[in-house]
Amino acid sequence: MAQVILVLNSGSSSIKFTLYSESNVQLSGQISGLGAVPRLSLKSETNETRIDRALSSGEGTHAGALRALLPVLEQELAGRSVDAVGHRVVHGGVEHAAPVLISDDVFDALKTLEPLAPLHQPHNLAGIAASREAFPEAVQTACFDTAFHRNHPWVNDTFALPRPLYDEGVRRYGFHGLSYEYICRYLQQTSPETYSGKVVVAHLGNGASMCAIRNGQSIGSTMGFTALDGLPMGTRCGQLDPGVVLYLLATKGMSADEVSDLLYKNSGLKGLSGISQDMRTLTESSDPKAAEAIDYFVFRIRRELGAMAAVLGGLDTVVFTGGIGENSALIRQKVCDDQDWLGLAIDEAKNRTRTEDISGVESRIKVLVIPTNEEETIRRHTAELLSEVSAN
Ligand code: AMP
Repeated sequence: MAQVILVLNSGSSSIKFTLYSESNVQLSGQISGLGAVPRLSLKSETNETRIDRALSSGEGTHAGALRALLPVLEQELAGRSVDAVGHRVVHGGVEHAAPVLISDDVFDALKTLEPLAPLHQPHNLAGIAASREAFPEAVQTACFDTAFHRNHPWVNDTFALPRPLYDEGVRRYGFHGLSYEYICRYLQQTSPETYSGKVVVAHLGNGASMCAIRNGQSIGSTMGFTALDGLPMGTRCGQLDPGVVLYLLATKGMSADEVSDLLYKNSGLKGLSGISQDMRTLTESSDPKAAEAIDYFVFRIRRELGAMAAVLGGLDTVVFTGGIGENSALIRQKVCDDQDWLGLAIDEAKNRTRTEDISGVESRIKVLVIPTNEEETIRRHTAELLSEVSAN
C-alpha cells in the first residue's frame, strides 16, 4: 500500500499542508486566518481550487484547524489513513543535525528553543501538539531549518563572545536549511558538476537569507543565532550593530519585548519604506522610500555575495529562489548588475522570461532560478524515518 504522508508547516496565522501518496502530491492547501477569521482552501494535485470556505471561529486555533481538516482528508483518503506527519520546525538547536521522530522528550527540548525563534517555533510546536492529537496513530517527525548548517566550519558557527556562551548554545545556527537542501538535491540530480562546485543560494522571500555551499555542504549562512541576522527581510532588520540594541534599551528605555517587536515585526522592508513589507508592492510603488528600501535590500545581497565568494575561494553558481528570487526579474537584475569583476552577468531577456538558466553568454558564473520546495524535503525525510520505524 502506498505511504500516505502529510506535511505541515504551522505558522502564527496559518497551517499550510500538503498530502502525499508516496512522492506524489495528492492535494495541498492552507488554513489561514488563525486567531481571526479562519478559512480553509484546498487545491488538487493539478492546482485547481477544490475548497475555499470560511471555518467557524472555534476552528481558528491550530487544534481546531486540524479538526476541520480531518474529515476533508478522510474523504480524500477513502479508507486509507495518514501514516506519518512531517513537521517543519525552524530551530533544532545544537542537538539536531538531522530530522527526528517526535517523542515527548524531543517536544519538550524543542520548546526550550522558543525564545530563539519567537516568530516561528511556538507555532511550529502548536501545530505538532495539535497533530499528535488529531493523528494519534501516525508517526510524527520534525525537520529542522537549522539542520543543514550544523556541520558548517567553526568560524561560521561562533561569535567572538566568551567561550562559555558558545558552549551553552549561543551559536550561528543558520536557517532556511530545508530550502537549501531541496536546491542542493535538485542540482545533484540535474547537474552533478554544478552540485559539486562552489554555489551561493539566495533564498529571497518574506524571510531572506543566503548560503555558501561547497559540494552540497553548508559553509556559511547570513542568518545566525536567530532568524533575524543577515539580509533585511519583510519585517526583520537583518544585520545590525549590537550597539543599536544597547542604545534602544539604555537610552530610549525600551523593554526587551519592545525591542523584539521592533526588530522582528517593524523593521526590514516595512520599517525602511514605511509602506509595506511586500516586495511586489514596493516594486510597483513610485514612492522614493520604496526605492530606498529596495536599494538597501539589494546592497546587502551584493555585499554578502562578494563575502561568500571570498569565503568559498571562488564562485561557480548563483541560485535565486524564494518568492522574490523566483519572481522578481528586477531584483535579480539589480543584484547581478556590474558584477563583471566577479565574472557574473545575466541575459536580460532570459531573466525577464525566467528560464532556469539566466546566465549571460559571457558569464563565467552560472546564474540559475530554481523554485524551492521545502515540503518535498520534509516529505523525503519523513518517508525515510517512516521506513526505519516500519522496519523495526
Ligand atoms: P515567500 O515568503 O517566499 O512566499 O515570498 C514572499 C515575497 O515574494 C513577498 O515579498 C512578495 O511580494 C514577493 N513576490 C512574489 N512575487 C513577486 C513578484 N512578481 N515581484 C516582486 N516580488 C514578488
